[in-house]
Amino acid sequence: MEWDVVVVGAGPAGCFTAKQIALSGFKVLILEEHQEIGYPVQCAGLISPRAVELAGVDKSTVLNNLTGLRVHSPLGAQFSVESSHDLALAIDRAKFDQELAANAEDAGAILMKGVKVKAATRIEGGFRLTLADSSKTISTKLLIGADGVNSSVSKWLGLSRHNLKAVMFAVDAQLQCADTDSISIFLGQNLAPGWFGWMIPLDEKTCRLGTGYALVQPAYSLQHYFQELVDQNPQIFKDLKIIRYTSGIVPLGKMPKIYSANAMLVGDAACQIKPVSGGGIYLGLRGAFVCAQTAIEALREDNLTEAKMSSYQKLWEKEMDEESASAMKLRESYLNFSDEDIDMVIRFLNKPKYHKLILKYGDIDYPSYLGKKLLNLLLKKNSLIKATLKISDKLRE
Ligand SMILES: Cc1cc2nc3c(=O)[nH]c(=O)nc-3n(C[C@H](O)[C@H](O)[C@H](O)COP(=O)(O)OP(=O)(O)OC[C@H]3O[C@@H](n4cnc5c(N)ncnc54)[C@H](O)[C@@H]3O)c2cc1C
Repeated sequence: MEWDVVVVGAGPAGCFTAKQIALSGFKVLILEEHQEIGYPVQCAGLISPRAVELAGVDKSTVLNNLTGLRVHSPLGAQFSVESSHDLALAIDRAKFDQELAANAEDAGAILMKGVKVKAATRIEGGFRLTLADSSKTISTKLLIGADGVNSSVSKWLGLSRHNLKAVMFAVDAQLQCADTDSISIFLGQNLAPGWFGWMIPLDEKTCRLGTGYALVQPAYSLQHYFQELVDQNPQIFKDLKIIRYTSGIVPLGKMPKIYSANAMLVGDAACQIKPVSGGGIYLGLRGAFVCAQTAIEALREDNLTEAKMSSYQKLWEKEMDEESASAMKLRESYLNFSDEDIDMVIRFLNKPKYHKLILKYGDIDYPSYLGKKLLNLLLKKNSLIKATLKISDKLRE
């Protein structure tokens, strides 16, 4: 075999996996179809300080520190909280990916850009990869599919995928941002059915915003929902000028199987995505960590059998299954909320004692902690029982 490991895709999950395996002395090749790492950007670039630390990237990738959160109901209510520490960071996503790629190269991995993998065929002891626009083939003992939401590697491996996705219309825009410290979330079935709208200020004059849906059959187009977001909030979005589009899709739900003999999937390709927010960077990095651990052990033992690779899924489930399953149920429960229910919950939570609770338990990487606390709180309130019972039934399942 020419390579110990070939990683398809130089996004955060692929580069972080490659870096760790290369550090253990194995021959690692990363193949990326685009000429420039990090582009096109299809992301809002909001991650936790924990994720920045885990990635080991320079602090200069952080464009803005966000200490506040404001949630807007579709019927006009809102609540806002302000923390003494960073709740989230807005990053330069392209630079973030480029640093992760450079770190992987520094660790000894070889990165080939502008190379699209067209097919993977199982051969004795590994895989043979066919490249687009080239008669050359590449052989590897271990194939890692880090090729994102539309993963071809998962198809070649016959690992089934599901249909549930969040489809998002997202932009970077010029806008007068009155409050540069707070993330705004916009809820409502008319502007983001099954999902949410967002506005992330970068400085006084620029922000990222978007909306989307997470339904199999939405009633309207994505553009329609984005226009609703803008039209329903004229005081915030007047004079909005779009600079660039960053729209895209994230997969939701759990993949039944993320490995095969001599192969693993990681990141979006393995559906390592937070079901409540669609954030995939932190989970992709965590997934990369577990994937690399399994790869290193398997390569050292020269054992890349199906049984050996299955420890990847076991380790991943041990780490994230409970959080992801709870978050998924919270998400599903939210689908039952009418705009009136959302408004009622937001009005109810807009009190100093609940603000404290939100700040104490809120964590963008582990949203189910706060979700469960809020649920218990809401269940104590009779007037909210109708909406919240639907949540509690789901969580008890
Ligand atoms: C609109 C939007 C907003 C988002 N906002 C956030 C956010 O605020 N915070 C957050 O944490 N997450 C966010 N996400 C999700 C986040 O962008 C993804 O979870 C993350 O990019 C996944 O990383 P990855 O490495 O798994 O895949 P990707 O970043 O998608 O990388 C996959 C790479 O594989 C390459 N590739 C694919 N096929 C091939 C092939 N055949 N041959 C060679 N190369 C190939 C692609 O070119 C790509 O570079 C957002 C997503 C969208 C769409």
